[in-house]
Order: sequence, then structure tokens, then C-alpha cells
Amino acid sequence: MTYGTRELRKLWREHWEESANRHKAWAATGYRHNSKPVHNPLPSVLVGMKCGARNRKGEPCNRVDLELNGRCKFHGGRSTGPTSTEGIARARANLTLRWSEPLVNG
Ligand SMILES: [Zn+2]
Repeated sequence: MTYGTRELRKLWREHWEESANRHKAWAATGYRHNSKPVHNPLPSVLVGMKCGARNRKGEPCNRVDLELNGRCKFHGGRSTGPTSTEGIARARANLTLRWSEPLVNG
């Protein structure tokens, strides 16, 4: 069976979400070392999966360092910033700290 790019990305996301859930369940039990989660190997259809987004040359992107949505950091795979109220507050605090410092060379 051949997969289209949409199905591959869905498989990719499901695989990593399953791993994350398994890790969360392990964390909830207090990281017991005698019951470490055993993760499924990456399905063979996903090995070497490429980003595939169109770049500025109009060619498919060949990066393989993909994020959870199956795209590279340049094509929609990176974080969109803090979402929780604590995270937003922390980012704002860092911003004020950074820009409250005097400029060295004027
Ligand atoms: Zn890409």
C-alpha cells in the first residue's frame, strides 16, 4: 500500500503522540525505572520521511528533521510561541528584562 503525503503526516503525528502519551503515563507513575516505557519503532514507511513543502525554488523541501506535524522548522513545524498564561507571562517578563538593559554602544 502506498501512502499519500497527507496520510504519512497523519501516521507521523499519531506515532509521536502515542509515544508522548506513553511517556506521560510513565511520568504519572513517578518515573519508575523498573517500568520504563517501551516505544514502538518508527514504522518503515516513515523512515527517511521528508518535509516535502514547496520551497522558494518551487521544489519539495528535503529536510528530514521534522516536527510533530511532519514539516521542518522552516515550513510550519516550529513552535508558535507560548500558549499558556504562565508561558505568556514568562515571555513578557523576559522581554522587559532584555529591553530594560542599556545599549552598550549608544
Ligand atoms: Zn521544509
